[in-house]
Amino acid sequence: MAIARPVRVLGFAAVVMWFFFIWQVLKPTSPPKHKVKEIIKSFERDPNLDPTGEPEGILVHASEEYAPGPAGTARINATLLALVRNEELNDMLSSMRDLERTWNHKFNYPWTFFNDVPFTEEFKKKTQALTKAECRYELIPKEHWAVPEWINMDLYKESTQILKDKKVQYADMISYHQMCRWNSGLFYHHPALANTQYYWRVEPKVHFFCDVDYDVFRYMQDNNKTYGFTINLYDSPDSIPTLWPETLKFIAEHPEYVHENNAMDWLTDKVRRPDHNKKANGYSTCHFWSNFEIADMSFWRSKAYEDYFNHLDRTGNFFYERWGDAPVHSIGLGLFEDKSRIHWFRDIGYQHIPFFNCPNSPKCKGCVTGRFTDGESFLYREDCRPNWFKFVSQG
Ligand code: GDP
Ligand code: MN
Repeated sequence: MAIARPVRVLGFAAVVMWFFFIWQVLKPTSPPKHKVKEIIKSFERDPNLDPTGEPEGILVHASEEYAPGPAGTARINATLLALVRNEELNDMLSSMRDLERTWNHKFNYPWTFFNDVPFTEEFKKKTQALTKAECRYELIPKEHWAVPEWINMDLYKESTQILKDKKVQYADMISYHQMCRWNSGLFYHHPALANTQYYWRVEPKVHFFCDVDYDVFRYMQDNNKTYGFTINLYDSPDSIPTLWPETLKFIAEHPEYVHENNAMDWLTDKVRRPDHNKKANGYSTCHFWSNFEIADMSFWRSKAYEDYFNHLDRTGNFFYERWGDAPVHSIGLGLFEDKSRIHWFRDIGYQHIPFFNCPNSPKCKGCVTGRFTDGESFLYREDCRPNWFKFVSQG
């Protein structure tokens, strides 16, 4: 039976529109090209678009010497480390599955879980079931978690109301302040870590996308690295107005702690986002996004960093402001460490909502090469890697 021409045309148009609709729904949510250009003018080309392999330097690959238990003689003093709540069990399992699949099933480093309340039996059973490696479950001592006695709770309430009015996230959630303080300066004093030097911090609900076939802890040790990151971001200046002024006071008292090969240019840049530098009173707000970190705790345990943390802690501003462990770690490293000992793990594909590190490598699956965020296009402005690459390196 012949179909009238107008009906055929209409039918064809309907099919085309249907495909267009499907494409609109499924296409990657990148900002329009001209917008990206405008937002990231100082970024000629994202290095994640260039083919990425294993890092240069000494690498130790997986072998039988990494078998679980005492047979694993090649492992060094290191652990996968997670501060997590019992309620986040499923999200923790999801992070573990990714990291076990892409890396740890080859190396069997122990997991150490920390909590301010005891872990449930269910938590212990389900996490241990995902790995052949040893799992340790640790309670945080009260004196490490409790709000310090020099905090005035009336002042806390008043100050956090002001932060809340400025839309600072989590401003009035006291456990968030406690968590940031613990991550900044207390976790590495937990007795369970007394004999551990390196850690890889893992949060619930993060993703790992790329197979990594060398021992990253050995990489740190053998190549003289202190700290490894994947993502470098701007912070909310309203959460840290006095962090930089307090830092300047501290280094005026202790100029001897500042390393001659420091990353001061990166910490104080005011060209790329002048508004941030102004609001944060001289700090660019650029920081290593610390929900991912692979680091040597000897640095946090050094006199310079310890004195710095104690100075900050005595101000009370982990509570009266909302100082995060990310800017505190980053400023400490940027001032007191040799910047050549800070490493960008460009080969580790990673996501913590809403940002990614997604390299161009056949070893990676499940992320879009070079895509920095799957959120709104304005989030592209939060990328501070161009400054790290400009002032330090891509190594
Ligand atoms: P965000 O990434 O800044 O949004 O903060 P998260 O809510 O992810 O918290 C950071 C990390 O600290 C995650 O690993 C959380 O599981 C953990 N965390 C935050 N608050 C608490 C808390 O009160 N108790 C415990 N045990 N873990 C916490
Ligand atoms: Mn998180």
